[in-house]
Amino acid sequence: MMLGYLLARAGVEVLVLEKHSDFLRDFRGDTIHPSTLEVLHELGLLDEFLKLPHQKVYELNGQFGEMRLTIADFRHLPTRCGFVAFMPQWDFLNFLAEKAASYKTFELKMDAEVTGLIEQSGRISGMRAKTPDGEIEVRADLVVGADGRSSSVREKAGLQAREFGAPMDVLWFRIRRTAEDPAVTMGRFDAGRIFIALNRGDYWQCGYVIAKGQFEEMRRQDLDTFRAAIVKLAPYLQDSVHELRAWDDVKLLTVRVNRLDEWFRPGLLCIGDAAHAMSPVGGVGINLAIQDAVASANLLFKPLQEKQVTIDDLRRIQTRRELPTRVTQKLQLAVQDRIIAPVLTDTQPLEPPLAVRLLARFPFFRRIPARVIGVGIRPEHVSAELLRAFGVARQA
Ligand SMILES: Cc1cc2nc3c(=O)[nH]c(=O)nc-3n(C[C@H](O)[C@H](O)[C@H](O)COP(=O)(O)OP(=O)(O)OC[C@H]3O[C@@H](n4cnc5c(N)ncnc54)[C@H](O)[C@@H]3O)c2cc1C
Repeated sequence: MMLGYLLARAGVEVLVLEKHSDFLRDFRGDTIHPSTLEVLHELGLLDEFLKLPHQKVYELNGQFGEMRLTIADFRHLPTRCGFVAFMPQWDFLNFLAEKAASYKTFELKMDAEVTGLIEQSGRISGMRAKTPDGEIEVRADLVVGADGRSSSVREKAGLQAREFGAPMDVLWFRIRRTAEDPAVTMGRFDAGRIFIALNRGDYWQCGYVIAKGQFEEMRRQDLDTFRAAIVKLAPYLQDSVHELRAWDDVKLLTVRVNRLDEWFRPGLLCIGDAAHAMSPVGGVGINLAIQDAVASANLLFKPLQEKQVTIDDLRRIQTRRELPTRVTQKLQLAVQDRIIAPVLTDTQPLEPPLAVRLLARFPFFRRIPARVIGVGIRPEHVSAELLRAFGVARQA
């Protein structure tokens, strides 16, 4: 959606196909990072965006065993907004869709599921999609697969992903938030369990981290056992936890971490989770997807205007975005292997790992996770050339 918006604003004809009839997907992360807010500022959209209901989170807090600490403090970031905005992703997507719709060059087709690619002389030249009115064929100078971790575009294109594995899955559910509940967004680590509670105003968006593949066995047990485990980590949920009435209220989010060897083929590019599924560690997946979109728009708007997208143009996107992706995934895998996996198998009272003890002892170090989570590696900015193209397109 972000890439579609940027290209349409630069005068490139764009069609976005979305397989669902709305954006109301619960599994999506809800975080809009300082670097994404910076991009919105560069686009002149920030003030209007911040009028949408959201919560500002200035720091991330954690509890390891008995030790409480602040893990990341976003206030010191060199960005316009020193906070993460928590907002349901459907509000963010609807906002972008509405802004994009003001350009004649933009079209969004909901209920349109890409089912196949059209190939001509070794080049992808379009795609087929299933819609309520039957199958459609779309011809395009470039097809961009931004269709998430189970991307059918990348599968149809035969692009190969390298899997890095994850020791955990996440159970995702909501519980009502009362006036007496604490305000902070919090991660709680204890022997054998990890519980995340994101303050979403009148409800908690909860994540309960389990060892990979454990959900089936949990589902065979009584829901009360699960409710009791939640209350042990978050005693303030004692009364409201009963709103979880059945296992159907709990969604399993299967964690995957992978990356394509090649993000492109002639006529086709993958970005976001379709090119690199991110672990939920640090909640940076949306940020990386947005950064990919900005880099792609910066580098591709001209070749697209000239209808001359070469394989080198596409390679340039991968070259630009692969380093931040690799480094971020490496950090995520280190946290998964060194902190999450041992916590999930631990049966003894939890000893906070060294990195956590350092963060607790030296507040200055909290700026490092804040930087990695809030801004990321090699943050992208809307280029001066692209901004100029917006002006030219508007006059035209
Ligand atoms: C448990 C968990 C928690 C997470 N929490 C966070 C978080 O807090 N913050 C964060 O930044 N990241 C988080 N992430 C990661 C984040 O959700 C992803 O990295 C991010 O959504 C990727 O964006 P995307 O646009 O590439 O793909 P997606 O958000 O997956 O969007 C893909 C879109 O393509 C559509 N689509 C799929 N197939 C087709 C098709 N064939 N035809 C047409 N449309 C199609 C889908 O309906 C969807 O709208 C989390 C991930 C997990 C697993």
